[in-house]
Amino acid sequence: MGLNLVVMVKQVPDTQNVTGNAMKEDGTVNRGALPAIFNPEDLHALEAALTIKESVPGSRVHVLTMGPPTAVQVLKDSLYRGADFVALISDRRFAAADTLATSYALKCAIEKIGDYDIVLCGRQAIDGDTAQVGPQTAEKLGINQITCVSEIVDLDPDTRTITARRSIEGGYEKIKAAFPVLLTITDEGFTPRPPSAIRMMTYKNATTAMSGGDYDETYLTGGAELKAENAISLWDSNAIGADPEHCGLAGSPTKVKTIDLVVLKSEDIRMIENSDEAISDMVHELVADHTLG
Ligand SMILES: Cc1cc2nc3c(=O)[nH]c(=O)nc-3n(C[C@H](O)[C@H](O)[C@H](O)COP(=O)(O)OP(=O)(O)OC[C@H]3O[C@@H](n4cnc5c(N)ncnc54)[C@H](O)[C@@H]3O)c2cc1C
Repeated sequence: MGLNLVVMVKQVPDTQNVTGNAMKEDGTVNRGALPAIFNPEDLHALEAALTIKESVPGSRVHVLTMGPPTAVQVLKDSLYRGADFVALISDRRFAAADTLATSYALKCAIEKIGDYDIVLCGRQAIDGDTAQVGPQTAEKLGINQITCVSEIVDLDPDTRTITARRSIEGGYEKIKAAFPVLLTITDEGFTPRPPSAIRMMTYKNATTAMSGGDYDETYLTGGAELKAENAISLWDSNAIGADPEHCGLAGSPTKVKTIDLVVLKSEDIRMIENSDEAISDMVHELVADHTLG
């Protein structure tokens, strides 16, 4: 029997190609001045899911993004590359979400899909940069997680287990986990495949369908027939059964006090000896000047 795979992807401003007016005077990102792209590591997460699908016949790849209507572009791109089902999670109630409110909405959407085996996402988004959304979503779903995955070493649909290689400082470790499991994927492996020309021709005019009820299999795009009509499901907060108190601004305890522009100069870098004593001294110093703690 195939596996149900869910990939979380984010549309982000292209912070890797920053031009003159990319920052506002208050130090925040001027999103309008930067092209919107598929978060780079999320493309690797999608590739990991498509690779698993190819190795376990009958599997399905579902792609979810929470964002404004313009975020459909990453969903179309996912369809071009081979996704079977895509949904845009969008509602004014989700505006100004911090990572807790974002992972809450994603958790609700994943539960709407229901019978999932593996959830995949990028390790980190290049705009928010927190790397919190994956682990928080796993926590909220109450499932296993393996972070910073660069390779899937073994996957056994019969025992419902996966062994993955994860990057750690100065090396790697292998972790085995039972399904359901969430993986956060780095850009070290799973080189994204190019979009398929046939799928691009089909889905370039893909339309969005409001889907308020249960997860609706009629929206699955896989199989022999590819059709653009209603290929993108649109889920608002009601459709995913989200409590408005946990969404968007209402569900975001994070408060930004000030934003400082930090420009590192070479003299800001200090190398320390690789010993417990040197590291302990450094930590004490950082706590004393309130950088940590
Ligand atoms: C202090 C602070 C204040 C903020 N205030 C605001 C605010 O007022 N208004 C506002 O709009 N934003 C705000 N944000 C940004 C918002 O919290 C993040 O955009 C969002 O929560 C995702 O966090 P991240 O970008 O750090 O993702 P990460 O945790 O780095 O992302 C990891 C992975 O999770 C997945 N993922 C992340 N976000 C999504 C998504 N939306 N849909 C699908 N998958 C996703 C992707 O696979 C991604 O690679 C704030 C962030 C911080 C840190």
